[in-house]
Amino acid sequence: MFGAPPLFAEPLLVGRPNIGDRATFMRHLEGAFDRRWLSNFGPVVKEFEQRLAQYLGVRHAVTVCNATVGLEIAVRALGLSGEVIVPSFTFVATVHVLHWLGLRPVFVDIDPATHNVDVDAVRRAITSKTSGIIGVHLWGRACDTEALESIAREHDLRLMFDAAHALGCSHRGRMIGGFGECEVFSFHATKFFNTFEGGVITTNHDDVAHRLRLMSNFGFHGLDNTDCVGVNGKMNEACAAMGLANLDALDGFVKTNRANYEVYRRRMAAIPGLQCIVYDDSERWNYQYVVVELDQAAFGLPRDILYRILHAENVMVRRYFYPGCHRMEPYRSGAVGAVPELPQTEALSDRVLAFPTGTQTAPVEVDAICDLLSCTQRQAAVVAERCSGSSAC
Ligand SMILES: *Cc1c(COP(=O)(O)O)cnc(C)c1O
Repeated sequence: MFGAPPLFAEPLLVGRPNIGDRATFMRHLEGAFDRRWLSNFGPVVKEFEQRLAQYLGVRHAVTVCNATVGLEIAVRALGLSGEVIVPSFTFVATVHVLHWLGLRPVFVDIDPATHNVDVDAVRRAITSKTSGIIGVHLWGRACDTEALESIAREHDLRLMFDAAHALGCSHRGRMIGGFGECEVFSFHATKFFNTFEGGVITTNHDDVAHRLRLMSNFGFHGLDNTDCVGVNGKMNEACAAMGLANLDALDGFVKTNRANYEVYRRRMAAIPGLQCIVYDDSERWNYQYVVVELDQAAFGLPRDILYRILHAENVMVRRYFYPGCHRMEPYRSGAVGAVPELPQTEALSDRVLAFPTGTQTAPVEVDAICDLLSCTQRQAAVVAERCSGSSAC
C-alpha cells in the first residue's frame, strides 16, 4: 500500500478451484458423448454416486445440480413446515432455502469456541411450530450431532445438516455424511472439491433416499406419472466426470491444504492478536478453510483495516460469514420475523478472516503472507495513525 506495487503480482484468492487430472475428466466426458447420454441418471453419475457412498460409508448418495437445490429437496423430502431452527453464522443459502420454500428460519446463536450452533440456544428456540433443525458443520468441523440428535428425538423434530464444507471430514471417527436424517454437501467451484457446480445428499434412510430421488426429478415415477411434487435437481454427466477426476485427486488436495494450514498456524502462533482455527489430529479434515480470528486490542488494528491492507497487496482474504444472515435482507428488516439478538454471531463475524489456500497457493506464498501479517502487526501503531483520516486506507 501507499503507492508501492502489491506484494503479489496476481491476486491470491480464497476458493480458487482445485482441478484434478484433465485426461481422466476428458475420458469420462468422451464416454458420455459416445453414448449420447448426457443427463438423467447416466452411468457417470451412477459411478460417481457409488464411489461417494463408499468413501463416506453411507447407504445412499443422491447427486444434485448444486447444494442450494439439494437443501431445498432435502427440506421437502423431510416434510419440514412452519419454523426451522438454523444458525445465522453460515452462508446465506442455508437460510434463503427456508424462506424460498415458505418456511420461517429461526436463528440461533453459536458457540464461539466451535463456531457451530449452540445446542442450548437450539433448545430455547423450540416452539409448537418448530418442525426441524438444520445444523451447519462450519469449516468442516462437525456440530454437536449427539446433542442435536437427542433434542430432535425428545421433541419429535426432523434433523438434517448442511455439510457443504465437510467432504472428507470425520466426527468421532465416522465420516460426516451419515448424521441426522440426511446431509447436503456442496461441490461448487469454490469448494475444495468441485464438480464445476454440484452437490450430493447423503442418507442411511431408504425412505428418505427414495423421496430425494423422486423430488430431484420432478417427482417422476415411471415415464408418465409423478408421485409427488419435484424439481429438476439432477447432476449431469459432465459434472459427474469432473467429480470422478477430482475424487482421484482428493487426497492430494487435502495434503496441499494441510501443508498450507500448518504454515499458517505455526506462523500465526507468533503474531499477537491472530488466532488460527484448530483442526486437531483426532479427526480427518479437508483443511479447506484457514479461518483466523483477530483480536483488535492485541493486534493493534481493526479487522477491516487489515482486510484492506491485505487486499491492496493482492491477498484477497474474505470476511466469512460477515455480517451474519440475520443482518442481511430480507431478515434484517424484520419482514420475516422478529430480528433476533445474536451477540456471539455478531462478535465473531466482526473478527474473522478467511485466508487463501488450495492448490493455487504455495507454502512459500503462505510464508510471505505471514511475513506481511507479522510486519503489519509490528507497525500497527504507525499504520493506525496513517490510516486515521486517510481515504486510501
Ligand atoms: C457453498 C455453500 C452452500 C451452497 O452451495 P452451492 O453448491 O453453491 O449451492 C450452502 N451452504 C454453505 C454453508 C455453503 O458454504
